[in-house]
Amino acid sequence: MRSANRLVAQVLEALEDAVTPGVTTAELDTLAERLVRDGGAVPAFKGYRGFPATLCTSVNSEVVHGIPSRKRMLVDGDIVSIDIGVKLDGFFGDSAVTVAVGQVPERTQALLRVTRESLEQGISQVKVGGRLSDISHAVQHWVEAHGFSVVREFVGHGIGEQLHEEPPIPNFGSPGRGPKLAAGMVLAIEPMVAMGRPEVRVLGDGWTAMTRDGSLAAHFEHTVAVGEDGPVILTARAETSEAASVAR
Ligand code: MG
Ligand code: MG
Repeated sequence: MRSANRLVAQVLEALEDAVTPGVTTAELDTLAERLVRDGGAVPAFKGYRGFPATLCTSVNSEVVHGIPSRKRMLVDGDIVSIDIGVKLDGFFGDSAVTVAVGQVPERTQALLRVTRESLEQGISQVKVGGRLSDISHAVQHWVEAHGFSVVREFVGHGIGEQLHEEPPIPNFGSPGRGPKLAAGMVLAIEPMVAMGRPEVRVLGDGWTAMTRDGSLAAHFEHTVAVGEDGPVILTARAETSEAASVAR
């Protein structure tokens, strides 16, 4: 799990650097697939229920599951959520980040920052003896305290020898419910946050989910192990990289 998820983190670091005005989401996908295969892994999303690419690239009001395209050139002021999964030596890694393209308004920076912080809040509840919905509650509380809304239709998940395992991990709910967390469990925690209303609709391509009201959305995800002494973020990137995705 460590190896697969370290590779995911390294690929995301490279992609963060590659996001710049003028790049297409297809170019990001090509780079990602090369780095995944150079790392001895295979893309986990490509072919998953027919998904055609290594990355999900979701721009602006797209929440998740956007399909990379040569026609989708990123421009100054966009935000792009990049989600990647890999399989390495039988184990899966999964992580996502939303990156600002060039300069974005302060309110957009706040959306990215709060979503990333909500993930950190969720991760802070990962401890032996804790309950799964403590994570959900911490995410929701942080997001709503800052005036944004939690997308309900998509949730995090257990991960291991399958990309999506039990249990589902909603980003909302009351604390103190669900399975008790035990050492060795591995969870993909992934808040999806809208600036406006949380409802989403899926486009005609069958994949791309966007906010119904057209408001911007962000998505951050880490694969996290329940360690004896607290959370172990298996997809942790260099701190400078994590901060840069929001700051620039
Ligand atoms: Mg993911
Ligand atoms: Mg996931």
